[in-house]
Amino acid sequence: MTEEVKIPPKGQAVVVKHTGSHYLLSQLPEWNLFPAVLRGKVRLKGSTATNPVAVGDVVDYIFEDEMGAITAIHPRKNYIIRRSANLSREAHIIAANLDHAYLIVTMAFPETKLAFVDRFLVTCEAYGVPVTILINKRDLYDEALEEMSAAFRGIYEGAGYDILEVSAITGENVDALRERLAGKVNLFSGTSGVGKSSLIKALDPSLELIRTAEISSAHLQGRHTTTFYEMYPIASGGFVIDSPGIRGFGLVDFKKEELSTYFPEMLKVMDNCRFSPCTHTHEPGCAVKAAVDAGTISPDRYYSYLGMLEEENKYR
Ligand code: GDP
Ligand code: ZN
Repeated sequence: MTEEVKIPPKGQAVVVKHTGSHYLLSQLPEWNLFPAVLRGKVRLKGSTATNPVAVGDVVDYIFEDEMGAITAIHPRKNYIIRRSANLSREAHIIAANLDHAYLIVTMAFPETKLAFVDRFLVTCEAYGVPVTILINKRDLYDEALEEMSAAFRGIYEGAGYDILEVSAITGENVDALRERLAGKVNLFSGTSGVGKSSLIKALDPSLELIRTAEISSAHLQGRHTTTFYEMYPIASGGFVIDSPGIRGFGLVDFKKEELSTYFPEMLKVMDNCRFSPCTHTHEPGCAVKAAVDAGTISPDRYYSYLGMLEEENKYR
């Protein structure tokens, strides 16, 4: 970080941070940060998001007088968005070009709401981001939590999802996680208190120093810089985009008929529905409902689906 790195006068780089007034870029996989601003009206064709550039975006830049100018944004392979406000159709791009997303939850405290998990998973499916659920605080398990975890895994592994149980405190499975992160840009999400900071520190202790310094300097300046998404390099390889405690991940612009295709276990059987398209609510001969009745699709997942369908109706 302290080493003097020569920034080529022009080239391609990745947005690793947005501070409000400017962006920080780096030529990944190198970590050679330099500041940049947007030159003119740079915007990706067809994007209606409130922010033109997001963390993870690949951009073209020109670098002169210690400052970069972003001149173009490359098409995104994927991205994750948040609705700007309730009942709003406006979208904010949280992060782009993700190789993998990790949703961190716990069986202990804070409580994990399945509707929230399902919403996150649907967002990842809709935008083509592979996702893993990390259950943290494995060290706290007693018999009851062990059972709760088994039930949770039953639902989500049953739906086809990848789950890893870890402990930031004892380090259990942290090596396995480190291996998975290497060579990739990874999004870390989870509600406040699940142990996101502790996990990042367990993965790479040097990151905690950077993050703590930033948070305290933000406090000194009385600014909420921590509400911005930011990418960090992990010493053992790969990058983590740390998302501040997410509240509402929202889906934008999906058609009602499409929603069930973002539930992998429903997608698998829906070809057998008598009607097409089928909303899997009232239609006779519905293969999804039959699978729920037969116990091969989790009722919890199905209720989440109905809830999202209902919510989507409110936007129409
Ligand atoms: P964040 O808000 O998601 O960044 O969560 P923190 O990393 O600040 O952790 C919240 C609380 O959970 C702290 O008191 C941590 O010490 C605790 N914690 C985090 N990870 C673990 C874990 O694996 N096991 C246990 N027992 N506590 C943990
Ligand atoms: Zn159906």
